[in-house]
Amino acid sequence: YYGRIVDPEAGRTVDEVMLVRMEPPHSYTREAGVEIHCHGGPLPVKRILELCVAAGARLAGPGEFTLRAFLNGRIDLSQAEAVMAVVSARTSESLALAVDELRGSLTHRLGPARDALIRTLAYLDASADFPEDEIHGVDVVGTLRSAECALAEVLAASNLGRLYYEGVQIAIVGRPNVGKSSLLNALLRHERAIVTPIAGTTRDVITETINLKGIPATLLDTAGIGETKDVIEQMGIDRSRRAIDAAALALFVIDGSQAATSDDLAVAHMLAERLDRDGAGRVVLAINKRDLPHHETHESLRAVLPGCPTIELSTVTNSGIDTLEATLFDLASSLAGEAREPATVSLRQREALRSALTSLQAALAAARDELPNDLIAIDVRDALMFIGEITGDQISERVLDEIFSTFCIGK
Ligand code: GDP
Repeated sequence: YYGRIVDPEAGRTVDEVMLVRMEPPHSYTREAGVEIHCHGGPLPVKRILELCVAAGARLAGPGEFTLRAFLNGRIDLSQAEAVMAVVSARTSESLALAVDELRGSLTHRLGPARDALIRTLAYLDASADFPEDEIHGVDVVGTLRSAECALAEVLAASNLGRLYYEGVQIAIVGRPNVGKSSLLNALLRHERAIVTPIAGTTRDVITETINLKGIPATLLDTAGIGETKDVIEQMGIDRSRRAIDAAALALFVIDGSQAATSDDLAVAHMLAERLDRDGAGRVVLAINKRDLPHHETHESLRAVLPGCPTIELSTVTNSGIDTLEATLFDLASSLAGEAREPATVSLRQREALRSALTSLQAALAAARDELPNDLIAIDVRDALMFIGEITGDQISERVLDEIFSTFCIGK
């Protein structure tokens, strides 16, 4: 319907609008609804909402529309959570993953394992209740093992999915003047900078977020250190140390036209220390200023960081920037494990997946030890309960409140 919204008291037209009336079940929530399409400025929207509220409506709670869609059975819980992922996606790749999830891909992926477990549980229960009856044998160990594989696969895919959703932090470290800021700018120019940067962990560190082949990558630049010697350089080291601790990856920049200095070595040792603590493969050595004639080999630095990928580049000619991005992408992906196909899975769903996997492994151990069927059934039942939490078949009100409280109002 086309018409006008009129303030009944003042008798004044507030806006020219379109009204869309939705008959159940053909709406987002499956309930009857009316949508008012007005002009998008803040004032008409505010006035129309005020008039609706004055006429007896109330504002929706966070995620209330999606909650109703779930409660009315139009979508399952993992699809409801995907709405949140769609709204907050930061790269087109993470959006595509979330939309996939919105169409129910997680439930679909877990479906076969769940059905097999239900059949196994039925068998285990029946054989415990009627031990003397001949019940057609079910390959309990085989079924549990393939369910375990299916769940582990989704969990691995979810690690990669989280990377696309949450992104990765990369610290750019190195002594002053090696070209850290220039490299940050080169990466920003090369890839589209993401407009909503995550606030920096400290005020000294400049953070910018780029789209690293679909992964939102926040670069922590420890540049901005002044000219004065000693004290300031010490501050620089402190800042670098903090950035390294905060980030999953470190981009170690050195000046390829000069011999390594004691400061370069100090940074290298700091990175090596971190690697020793957290495992290898997380530093990329960027040898900058390769456009200048004088080339150093930097053996002393490489010796401190054996096996770390080394990229020669120049922020002046932009040579090596593509290779650097590819290397950073590969390293970031490898942090997420082996999976090649990412899946969007919320933290809550991941917890449930892990618990389901633990229960399955317990059931598997019990089955292999040939424990009584009713004992195996306890763990299988638990696993099914946790899978049910993912899709929302089994969910408490408290969990629902928790999920939907993170939504924006009106979604
Ligand atoms: P930072 O202190 O590590 O952040 O270094 P800057 O990015 O401020 O760069 C220090 C100096 O090196 C500046 O004068 C840059 O113009 C210069 N610079 C940076 N990258 C390159 C490069 O690839 N080639 C050349 N020739 N100069 C560079």
